[in-house]
Amino acid sequence: MSGQNMPGQSDDLWREKLSPERYHVLRQKGTEPAWSGELLHVDSPGVFHCAGCGSVLFSSDDKFDSGSGWPSFTRALSGEAVSTHPDTSLGMVRTEITCAACGGHLGHVFPDGPAPTGQRYCVNSLSLSFAPGTSSPSEPGTTT
Ligand SMILES: [Zn+2]
Repeated sequence: MSGQNMPGQSDDLWREKLSPERYHVLRQKGTEPAWSGELLHVDSPGVFHCAGCGSVLFSSDDKFDSGSGWPSFTRALSGEAVSTHPDTSLGMVRTEITCAACGGHLGHVFPDGPAPTGQRYCVNSLSLSFAPGTSSPSEPGTTT
């Protein structure tokens, strides 16, 4: 009943479109249990889309094994694809990351990642869908 108005799509539509697990993470800022994500161990080339709206968010090129139990990336594919918000819930000061297109909750970004960015985008596997293939979304004419 909080009446959060996400642009373009009502809560009911999200509920219909997403599985209960994805809905909880994307629309209610849930967190999947560590080590549960099916994309955690994906290391083949490809891009990661928002599970809510399909926006391309991350590339396998930037994925690394953080040991945290969640898929982790050193950067987003583009600075415009992912929005950041201060998050002071749970008594911590963190930076939440959301899909810029649909507002879906992705996870958090921490300043303890590896070079070259020093950033660790810690993302719920449930927020993403993986498209194997090329790790660059704009590479034309690639067929398999
Ligand atoms: Zn989205």
